[in-house]
Amino acid sequence: RVLLSKVLDRERENIRGIALTVQDITREVELNEAKSQFISNVSHELRTPLFNIKSFIETLSEYGDDLTEVQKKEFLETANHETDRLTRLVNDVLDLSRLEASRSYNMSAVDLIQPVEQTLRTCQLNAKDQGITLHKDIEEELPPVLGHYDLLLQVFTNLVGNALKFTNSGGKVTIKAYKVTAEESTAISHVRIEVKDTGIGIPPEDKEAIFERFFRVENRVHTLEGTGLGLSIVKNIIDKHHSQVFIESEVGKGTTFWFDLSVYREAPEEPKLIVSD
Ligand code: ADP
Repeated sequence: RVLLSKVLDRERENIRGIALTVQDITREVELNEAKSQFISNVSHELRTPLFNIKSFIETLSEYGDDLTEVQKKEFLETANHETDRLTRLVNDVLDLSRLEASRSYNMSAVDLIQPVEQTLRTCQLNAKDQGITLHKDIEEELPPVLGHYDLLLQVFTNLVGNALKFTNSGGKVTIKAYKVTAEESTAISHVRIEVKDTGIGIPPEDKEAIFERFFRVENRVHTLEGTGLGLSIVKNIIDKHHSQVFIESEVGKGTTFWFDLSVYREAPEEPKLIVSD
C-alpha cells in the first residue's frame, strides 16, 4: 500500500507539473498577443502625425511659391504641432515600456508635499490660461510615504494634466492628501491622495477601460492633446506601489481619482552591542 501511495503521489506531481506548464504557455501566448496588439496600436498612432508632417513638407516644397506668407506660417505651425504630438507619444511609449521592463524600484521615504508643489508649479500657468483654479489641500503633519519620488511626480503630473484637459473654464482642480487610520484603530495605516476636478466626468461604462492603453472616451473633441497612455502609466506606477487607483465620477459634475500609499516606517535599528568596563 505504501508503494501504491508513493506511485500515486508521483503521478499527482507529474499532472501538477503538466498543468503548470500549460498555464505558463497560455500566459506567454497572452503576453505575446498583448505585445503585438500594442505594437500595432503604436504604429497606427505614429503613422498619423508622421503622415501629416510629410504632407505639409511636400506641399511647402512643391507649391511653396504659390502660397501666401500667412498660409506658409499656418502650415509650419501645424507641422510643429504634429511634431510635438509625436514627441509626446514616443515619450509615453518609452515610459510605459521602461515601467513594464523593470520589476523593482528603490522605494524610500517621500514627503508628499514636494512632488505636489512641483506639480502645481508646472501646471499653474496652464490652469491660469484656461481659467481654472488649481489648489492643494494637504493635511498638517502628514507622515512620509514609502514610494518613488520621480514616479509619484509623474502620477501627479498625469492626473492633474487630465483634470485640466477635461475641465471647463471657471472650474476647480484640487490635489488632496490626508491620513487614513485602520478600522477600529487609531494607528495611521495609509496616506490617501485624491486628484479632484469639477470637469466633464467619465461615463460609468468607461470607468474601467480608461486605464487601457490608447483608450479614449468616445464622442469627445480629441483635439485636446493626449496619447491615451497617461492613465496606463498611472496604473502601472501605482501597481508598483502595491496599491490600486479608484475613480468616482459623475458626468457633467466632475471626477476624483484616488489611491492609498503606505506610511514609511524606518527599519528597526540593529541591536547595538553595549560593552561595559
Ligand atoms: P489621454 O492622453 O487621452 O488623456 P489618458 O490615458 O490619460 O489618455 O486618459 C484616457 C481617457 O480617459 C481620456 O482620453 C479621457 O477621455 C478620459 N479621462 C481621463 N481623465 C479624465 C478626467 N479627469 N475627466 C474626464 N475624463 C477623463
